[in-house]
Amino acid sequence: MTEMDRGPNDRDELVALTRQLRSQLARHVAAGTWAAPGQATTRSAILPFDAEVGTPVEVYDDRAPRIGRMSLAQIRDELGECTRCKLSTTRTSIVFGIGDPNAPLMFVGEAPGEQEDKRGEPFVGPAGELLDKMIEAMGWSRRSVYIANTTKCRPPGNRNPELDELEQCMPFLQAQIASIAPRIIVALGRPASNQLLGRDVPISALRNKFHDVNGIRVMPTFHPAYLLREPDRKRDAWADLKLVMQELARLGIAPPGTPRG
Ligand code: SF4
Repeated sequence: MTEMDRGPNDRDELVALTRQLRSQLARHVAAGTWAAPGQATTRSAILPFDAEVGTPVEVYDDRAPRIGRMSLAQIRDELGECTRCKLSTTRTSIVFGIGDPNAPLMFVGEAPGEQEDKRGEPFVGPAGELLDKMIEAMGWSRRSVYIANTTKCRPPGNRNPELDELEQCMPFLQAQIASIAPRIIVALGRPASNQLLGRDVPISALRNKFHDVNGIRVMPTFHPAYLLREPDRKRDAWADLKLVMQELARLGIAPPGTPRG
């Protein structure tokens, strides 16, 4: 999906959405929806929906031991042949995500496009090819990171996902993030960045700096589809990714295959 500007009405709707998501997620947590017996985690789930202040929702830290850390296979089973939102009526495939289930580095976009819908894999069209190049320039590969979207089914005509669709689908991304427990998430484009950070601001206000969300560092940057339309911004995107590489190095995380020095 693309860098689409949202208007004031959309902002109000997003604030309402984040409130709904918070209450829905709180219900999930309280009900133990995500609990897997014997799989309590010591690392907090990422539950950052706080549009009012744009910060992590600390209350979930307190409840972290009650949030089961499901495996990706368990989450996929839970998703099933999902019909939780109307995108199920037009999709060809559920695009769950791909990569290393223990990846320290994760990339999150907005929603599958036409090629992704056909193949059931995220970021496989022209934008995906550019994303692959970006990841490879960092020394990683699509198999050694994890790639997912905020919604798992293609919106018709590549429109942005609607609020009810995000409400139904985002909890599954949250569960994936909790399962993978990446150290850094690169959020691709304005919609995904704002979803992950609980904000509604232009990407220019978010990118080129880390946002700490319950212990996970989130780096917003431009969506590859935007970079295909505006190649002059590739330099800026690379600057964002260099910060990610520096932070990974600071954390002692080397790309796979890097000789130990
Ligand atoms: S977008 Fe998500 S919630 Fe909606 S049908 Fe697809 S998997 Fe289910």
